[in-house]
Amino acid sequence: MTNPHQLKRDLVEVGRRVYARGYVASNDGNISARLDEKRILITPTGISKGFMTPEDMVVVDLDGNVVSGTKKASSEVFMHLAAYKHRPDVHGVCHAHPPYATGFAVAGIPLDKCILPEVVVVLGGIPLVEYGTPGTEEFFAPVLKRIDKYDAFLLANHGALTIGKDLFNAYYKMETLEHFAHIAFVAQQLGHMNVLNRDQVQKLTDLRAKFGVRTTVGCVSCEEDSSACAVPGAEDPGAAAGAEDLVKTITDAVMQKLNLRT
Ligand SMILES: [Zn+2]
Repeated sequence: MTNPHQLKRDLVEVGRRVYARGYVASNDGNISARLDEKRILITPTGISKGFMTPEDMVVVDLDGNVVSGTKKASSEVFMHLAAYKHRPDVHGVCHAHPPYATGFAVAGIPLDKCILPEVVVVLGGIPLVEYGTPGTEEFFAPVLKRIDKYDAFLLANHGALTIGKDLFNAYYKMETLEHFAHIAFVAQQLGHMNVLNRDQVQKLTDLRAKFGVRTTVGCVSCEEDSSACAVPGAEDPGAAAGAEDLVKTITDAVMQKLNLRT
């Protein structure tokens, strides 16, 4: 069994990093870790993730009943429990509102193109899931539809969710997701986004076993549109149009956001 004292300290540390990096404001966000087969540790509601102590953490069973702790569990505890129940390999869950990733989620633009090698290897793709009222089942039901294939999600008009084989793995995926979103945003500002072709993506996917990454992580573009992962002018002319459409869509959204176009 995982040392519960260390795991509480790890939750404090991840909370501190999430807050310090600006992935949350005020009391936003929630983080959890699997303690054993029947219990998880989760951050409490109504507290800044940057200023937690180990004693603040709440232990709940898989039905959401508080087992120990003096605080009230996060209002999103059932989203975390759903992730653990559907994915036995998951031991850490991180939910935050990082500005660039959340910007894409608010704009309704998925981060579904294969453009950065490390993101292809670690995350595959990041689907944009439908909006649901926070704290209710409709919030996490859309995530559950895709949780078998993906480890990172954009939550429409809300934020982001990452899951991992341990707490820090889930947190690092949040870092990777936000970094990816930032880079994608800059590329759009510069006016062009080159997409890796299918052969390049396959070579990266083949590297997953070497790095201990789950081999079934999906690629939104490859799986939902077989022509999506190809460079303009390469094996699939349709892909060039797809990439250019994405560039135009995001550029237009940014221009409108900045009021650069009337
Ligand atoms: Zn949230």
